[in-house]
Order: sequence, then C-alpha cells, then structure tokens
Amino acid sequence: MAWELVNGTVVTPRDVLERGSLTIDKARIAQVSKSSRKSQDAMQIDVNGMLIFPGLINCHDHLLGTYVPRVGDRRPYLNWLEWDNDLKSSPAYAERQQIDSSDLYLLGGYRHLLCGITRVQDHIPHFVREAFAKNMPIRIISDFAMAHSVTSYALKWGDGIEAEHAKAKEKNIPFITHCSEGFDEETLKSVETLAAKKALSKQTVLIHGIAFSDSDIELLAQNKCNVVWCPVSNLYMFEQTARVKELMDAGVNVCLGTDSPMSGSFSIFEELRTAREFYRYAYGRDIDDRVLVDMLTVNAARAMCLPDAGEIAEGKAADLLLIDGSSANPWASLTHADYADVMLVIADGLPRYGDIAFAPVFEAMSIPYQNILVKGARKIIAGDVLEVQNRIRRAVKFKKELDFLPIEAA
Ligand SMILES: [Zn+2]
Repeated sequence: MAWELVNGTVVTPRDVLERGSLTIDKARIAQVSKSSRKSQDAMQIDVNGMLIFPGLINCHDHLLGTYVPRVGDRRPYLNWLEWDNDLKSSPAYAERQQIDSSDLYLLGGYRHLLCGITRVQDHIPHFVREAFAKNMPIRIISDFAMAHSVTSYALKWGDGIEAEHAKAKEKNIPFITHCSEGFDEETLKSVETLAAKKALSKQTVLIHGIAFSDSDIELLAQNKCNVVWCPVSNLYMFEQTARVKELMDAGVNVCLGTDSPMSGSFSIFEELRTAREFYRYAYGRDIDDRVLVDMLTVNAARAMCLPDAGEIAEGKAADLLLIDGSSANPWASLTHADYADVMLVIADGLPRYGDIAFAPVFEAMSIPYQNILVKGARKIIAGDVLEVQNRIRRAVKFKKELDFLPIEAA
C-alpha cells in the first residue's frame, strides 16, 4: 500500500521544500512534490510542518560491542591495541560476555533507531555478523571489503589489504579499515603503507585518521579516499582526533561514525555535539550545520557505495527521519536535536519508531508496537525492545542501566 506524508518541510538534504509531500510505495520514495494534493489511493498523514530528512547513515560501529560503561583506565593510549587489551581484561567485558550476541546486535539496532539512524556500518568479519544480522530494526551495511587496520599487529580480518581492496574495486563496494588510530611508528606510516599496497582509491574508507600528516591528507585527496570521523571515541581514548577541517579543505569526503559505546558516543546526538565543540575549539569558528548533515547523509552514501541512500528523491530508499524543528535553519535543528525531537523514523518504507501521535499510522499498517518513555517523552516502537532489555538484565543478574538506550515501559 502506498502512503503519503504531507505538509512537511522536506530537507533533501541539499534543498528544502516547504509544505512538501512525499509518497512511499513499498520500500521506495515514489514521488516528492512541492505541494500536497488530495490523493484517493494513498493513506495521507499530515505531519504539520515537521522536518523530513533522509534516514541517517552511521559509518562506523561494532554492534557486538554495544555495551557500557566505557573502558579506558590508562588513557590516553598510544594505539588501539593498548585500549583493546584493557577492554578484554575489564569487568565490563566479562559482564558483556554473559549476553547473547544476537541481543547485543539488537541493542545496537535500537540504540541507533532512537536517533534516526536507518543504516549502520558494522566493522567485524562477515562470518561473525551473519548469524546475528537477522530481524534488526534498522539495516546493517554489510557489503564491503575490509581489513581490521594497517599495522603488522592488526587483527587478521579479511584476506589481506591488497586482495580486499581489489575485491572492492571489482564489485564497486567500499574497502573499509581502521587507519592511523594511534601514534606508534607503524601507525604513523599507515597511509604510506596503504599507498605502497596500491590500496588508496575512491573505494577506500579510512576510519579515525587521528595521526594523518599533511602529506597523508594530500595523498587521500589525490586518490579520492573517504574518511570516517569518530570524535567522541578519539577524544576519549587519545585526547586527539582527526584534522577534519584540513581533510575537508583538501577535498576528502568526510563522514561521521559513533564507534561502539565502550569507547564512543552513546548517541549520534552526542557525536554531533562533540563534533561541533571540537571544531570550535580547534579552529576558532563554527562548523556549518549543513556540512555535519552531509556527513551523515550524502557523504556517507558515497563512501558506503549506496546509491539509493542519503537523499530524498524519487526512486531512493524510503528511509526517513522526521524531527521537530525550525524550517528557518533545518540543518541546525538536526545537529542540535536530542531524543525528544525525533518524531518518526521510517526504515525500508515502514514506520519503526516515533511519537505517540503516530500510533494510528502503526495501527493502520498493522505494525505491532510498544509504548515506551524515552527520557520522559512518550514514544512508540516496533518490535519488543522491552523484552530485549529484560533479557539483558536476566543475563547479567541485576537491573543493568544502558545509557545508550534511555527507555522504560510507559
Ligand atoms: Zn572501530
């Protein structure tokens, strides 16, 4: 059944259509128009001026690591390996091990759904993910070639940098690896190593890039590479993060990622806040809100090789985020948003989460939902997130609070 959102401010995100409407048919956007017409054959929903964005794309996470608290007794670290050793010997990790991996994946899915993320990149070998990726509330980006990282002590993920990058070029999928996440001698040479292995191209997606030099940035720009900025995780573990302005000034495509909450942000809202604060601190000026929105939409779709995502246009995937906010500067409304502002999230053409006012839509489409409070705001959510929360508590044998999932039964 086709259905239509009318009377919204559509942020494509490069253009804004006030009092716009869009029709969703199956999992696609069938039509976008500047005015709303009475339609006989589609269910119409008046969204009363809400801002309609493409569903957000989170370019870096490890869904198996969806747990808290953050780990890091010996910060700041020299490289990721030191942190990883602390992680694996931490009480939080031992506690997490009691939980079924499929539930950690669901926690990751719901964590992002609450923030309007409709696709997330899950950095883990594909054979590990396969068993857990079913029935997720949002889409997991899993079509990519990969390495763990670029140093000799990297985890042995994938078939090696040269083979994986060749696979990416052949299939037109991303080649994704952690890169320059630290300051030891080998890590500092990560980009040179990738260049020597002929693994720098428009398929290449480098996560973190904390230690990029001027010549690294030049090489990345020349080769049209992509970088995923994870400021919360970087500042927490290393007290430094990527030189994001220099990267953007050079023309490198920059996206945003949360990383797992064991080092990174609890929500994309926190990531956006930190990104803005870091930029002002480091460069003495505000980052353009449109630039931040691009990082989570069009830039992310380009890096992840997803031609149907990151934009509102006819034929694109019907992954949408509706928020409350001002149409005078809708981009700022998104970059300053918090949980309560999220009004509706549509993934694959179906409503998955939203304000209680949208309950009749879920009912008309026969989508079972739960009533929940999210930081005190009354929301509804498809599926059974409360039972996932209960299973976690049964597994660890106490009333675990998960800061990245601020929900309770309504
Ligand atoms: Zn990572």
